[in-house]
Amino acid sequence: MKRNLLFLALLVALGSCNQGQKTDTAVAETPVETPKQSFGIVIHGGAGTILKKNMTPEKEAAYKAKLEEAIRVGYEILENGGSSMDAVEKTIHVMEESPLFNAGKGAVFTSEGKNELDASFMEGATLNAGAVAGVTNVKHPISAARMVMEKSPHVMLAREGAEVFAKEQGLEIVDPSYFYTERRMNSLKRAQEKEKIELDHDDKTAAFYDADIKDSKFGTVGCAALDKNGNLAAGTSTGGMTNKKWSRVGDSPIIGAGTYANNKTCAVSSTGWGEYFIRGVVAYDIAAMMEYKGVSLQEASSEVIQNKLTELGGTGGIIAIDHDGNVAMEFNTAGMYRASMNASGELYIGIYKE
Ligand code: ASP
Repeated sequence: MKRNLLFLALLVALGSCNQGQKTDTAVAETPVETPKQSFGIVIHGGAGTILKKNMTPEKEAAYKAKLEEAIRVGYEILENGGSSMDAVEKTIHVMEESPLFNAGKGAVFTSEGKNELDASFMEGATLNAGAVAGVTNVKHPISAARMVMEKSPHVMLAREGAEVFAKEQGLEIVDPSYFYTERRMNSLKRAQEKEKIELDHDDKTAAFYDADIKDSKFGTVGCAALDKNGNLAAGTSTGGMTNKKWSRVGDSPIIGAGTYANNKTCAVSSTGWGEYFIRGVVAYDIAAMMEYKGVSLQEASSEVIQNKLTELGGTGGIIAIDHDGNVAMEFNTAGMYRASMNASGELYIGIYKE
């Protein structure tokens, strides 16, 4: 009898459990879901020793205004249903045309006093990609990179060949003097003076980078975007590093290092000491962590920048957006010019560490 009673009690208990589950399900079915970000955009204008004490209010305002102008161009394209590729390209045009950034006009000088520009572009839907390295007369290297992706069977074209291709595609060609800015010429002179002093001592490589890294803000530009169709794209454009020699090419035109996009995971653009970003395959590493380990964009970005890149000895940062519109802006330098806008139109602009 006792046993039967126990059995009955168990049945009642189970029944109420089920009731409970039903109620839970019913509650979950009510519209409590947070709205999904259907599109978004994030940009950088370079990472480096960007300290508030070295900044005038005017300079800070000028950077913020240009970042906002650039991101709003891409945002408008996305808001109107345009593609993430168009948003990335047109946003980067604004920064390439501004002397504030080390891309297009305002690019840094090589040791020979030239401007050699690198850029790359990637589409997340197809994993198609394009890049140019060492071009000297293409007004918008980012468009040349996109053209390589769309109009050639190749992924990367370099120097004169890339210039011929860009011209054939009808891109705007300028006299190399278009890229000249006094500010960057002065940086080159300073870097070379410092190099001379240090070369009289010992390590050449240290002198080359020391001059560039400690004293300058890099200023490469990049953009990553998600459009309303769920397509991701990323692009990066740069003049490279001040006083670069021997046709040096950094990470910016290297797919997987400077730029990466995959609809399954995220779109990334890097900035910083390029040699380390190449060795760390930084942009791809973030996407791969998400794909293979199932971690969030933020987790993957901070692991790769704060741990892996830092342990390698590299400095810089990334901006990225994932397939849900979540954004990451991660750097291990004093600052990174950056901005983002989400589907609700909320704008964030940052320069220093918060
Ligand atoms: N990553 C670029 C390069 O190494 C420089 C930068 O991002 O500032 O060419």
